[in-house]
Amino acid sequence: EVVRSPDIQEARLGLPVVAEEQKVMEAIYNNPVAVIWGATGSGKTTQVPQFLFEAGFGSPDSPNPGMIGVTQPRRVAAVSMANRVGDELGGLSEQVAYQIRFDSSVSDKTAIKFMTDGILIREIAKDFTLLKYSIIIIDEAHERSANTDILIGMVSRIVDLRASMSKEDTKIKALKLVIMSATLRITDFLENPNLFRNGKPPLIQAEGRQFPVTIHFARRTQRDYVDEAFYKVCRGHKKLPPGGMLVFLTGQNEITALAKRLKEALSNTQGSYAPGHKVRIAASEAPLETEDMELGTETSQYDEVEEEDEGNEEDLFDNQGDKEFEVDDKTPASSQVHILPLYSQLQTKDQLRVFNPPPENARLIVLATNVAETSLTIPGIRYVFDTGRAKDQKYDKMTGVQSFEVGWISKASASQRAGRAGRTGPGHCYRLYSSAVYERDFDEHTEPEILRMPVEGVVLQLKSMDLQHVVNFPFPTPPDQQSLAKAEKLLSYLGAVSSEGKITTVGRQLSNYPLSPRFSKMLTIGHQHGCMPYTIALVAALATPNLFIPGKQLGLAVPTQSEIYTNENRQADEARTKLISSYNHAHHLFSRNSPTSDALKALTALCAYAYAPSKDDFCKEMFLSPKSLNEASNLRSQLTTIVHNNNPSSLPSTSPLQLPFPSKTQISVLQQFTAAAFIDQVAILASASTSPPDLPRKPTRAIDVPSLPLCPINTKRKGDSDIIDIAVFIHPSSILAHTGVKDLPTYIVYSHLQRGTPATIEGAKKPRTR
Ligand code: ADP
Ligand code: MG
Repeated sequence: EVVRSPDIQEARLGLPVVAEEQKVMEAIYNNPVAVIWGATGSGKTTQVPQFLFEAGFGSPDSPNPGMIGVTQPRRVAAVSMANRVGDELGGLSEQVAYQIRFDSSVSDKTAIKFMTDGILIREIAKDFTLLKYSIIIIDEAHERSANTDILIGMVSRIVDLRASMSKEDTKIKALKLVIMSATLRITDFLENPNLFRNGKPPLIQAEGRQFPVTIHFARRTQRDYVDEAFYKVCRGHKKLPPGGMLVFLTGQNEITALAKRLKEALSNTQGSYAPGHKVRIAASEAPLETEDMELGTETSQYDEVEEEDEGNEEDLFDNQGDKEFEVDDKTPASSQVHILPLYSQLQTKDQLRVFNPPPENARLIVLATNVAETSLTIPGIRYVFDTGRAKDQKYDKMTGVQSFEVGWISKASASQRAGRAGRTGPGHCYRLYSSAVYERDFDEHTEPEILRMPVEGVVLQLKSMDLQHVVNFPFPTPPDQQSLAKAEKLLSYLGAVSSEGKITTVGRQLSNYPLSPRFSKMLTIGHQHGCMPYTIALVAALATPNLFIPGKQLGLAVPTQSEIYTNENRQADEARTKLISSYNHAHHLFSRNSPTSDALKALTALCAYAYAPSKDDFCKEMFLSPKSLNEASNLRSQLTTIVHNNNPSSLPSTSPLQLPFPSKTQISVLQQFTAAAFIDQVAILASASTSPPDLPRKPTRAIDVPSLPLCPINTKRKGDSDIIDIAVFIHPSSILAHTGVKDLPTYIVYSHLQRGTPATIEGAKKPRTR
């Protein structure tokens, strides 16, 4: 029997979910799948597992002996929730455990297991029936992370499977599924008969107990929201009565910078801010957790804000600042601050510090990413500062380019963020954007992640769980059939799936990398000829968009070699000529390893960057984007660790970033690796093909020479003429754009296509390669 301490008991009684215990348990007993909806903080995560535990789930001699498995999208939530539930269970705390990558407290005694969704996905790959569980709770389903969506589809099937197994063998028990969500965002797929074959699961609602939160919109939306957050938090700290502050930002760099500024401005004693720690990455057995890697680069730190004119133009220090920080409570504000960062790349134990009470008399200020939006309840938060932005994965379906971009959050997210201020008492939410921007630029909900990522990664993930027919998979929100089929084809070209659609040994290797399968492929073959360190740099360079600053951006109309050397324009001023020539010189230096490969050019730039004593000066001098190079360089270090852990023999653990130039042989195999990864994206010069098309006139520039993709592309639109439609052309920014028409290689490997209107053949559409 569970004996809880009196204060825990009292706190529990106040939770809306506890008031609904009977309804929740009835729904679970009477249905294979149940859905629980309640606002953040209503007690879903901490209480529902305890209801089940007290009803005997997870106890070896009960009718439901299997463990209670609870998934969380984030590591810190898995650990902190296990700790909290352990505390609430008092003497039985050893029956609660967590498992995250690198760390687990699971034992024979474990009855309630909190884990990241990545862990459960990996367990399904090992045992498709999930026999050690009697019930799976998929938590935070409203976030619609790709892993959550995959798990909902997968576990709903396993529930069916276990039901039929239990009919045949009484020793095997049925499996139940509970989906928990902080919003109603999930109702759209509840009626999906493909997903829930036995009809719509019951929806149990726990009315949120939420104190009123006063929302303060900013009068104006400042572009530099970090600066604005600094200003508002400083002012708020001076004016506002005691109470914790929670500031929503987009990423580690912003958090680190703001923490430093706030500490300097607000503390007169030693601050408590600890700088970020690098996350340790991957033993080969470790499953993938989405938090591990941020691929690509943020394209813009501060998005353009088109400001509406609302009332008088007033400067930042207008008296609104005073008014908005006026609250009834006149308790004097605390003078000390206790500033803590909270982002997923921070070591879990450091993330957990937000749960400790702040030093006496000090105001807790948590600078957080989305981590704090719904999965965590930080005690004592009374004021929320919401920048309105988040860093989200973006994926361009046409170009295949994946990136992380800072953009507006959705209205649903904004409301969740505001709600964080009303847990312990009435609170205030300061939105650093105007109501007009909110109304105009905020979507109702964020698109499910699965629709924002390359489908081949999702398909490989499913295949690694031994799913053969991905097209039939019950996605809560399915990606379109055509991209699924294309992804499946790519995976078979990469050798990741067999002709019957089953995952191969190669496929299993690829699924160990948190990367697009194309790049994982390069890493699995890239050790040949001692190339591994180069392959890693090559993948990092290819996976990061926008390394080179386009000439256009410098005011140089994309310079072609001929233009630069023969430009006779006497009016061109000297500075411009000099700029063009140094631009050209930089690109010439990066082309030293290969005059025909953009991939090697990117590799050369990244390798040269590793040598630069001053990264900023180097980027400036060499016309590189400092931000992209920094991202690529971080990715390179992360990949080095991952590759070493996955395959220690292919790379020593301390591989230097400063490499000598690759040999001729290495250059040639590096190009072969690239071709292997993009094997479905090879084009042959039209003139060298078996049926050369008739051209209106003979091309004089490389960018006008048509090539034909070997795997036909599907871009035909109504009215496109056939020949033009199947041809692709070299993009003007490619190294090949400067090649003489006669010197063009017969075959071109391209990373992506872009639709554009050709100069030479008017009116027609033709894709360009890059
Ligand atoms: P939900 O999952 O519905 O968002 P939780 O079960 O996480 O809600 O939290 C329920 C309540 O338990 C919170 O409102 C908070 O008061 C309390 N709580 C949760 N975690 C902690 C913790 N680590 N420390 C103190 N209180 C906590
Ligand atoms: Mg929760």
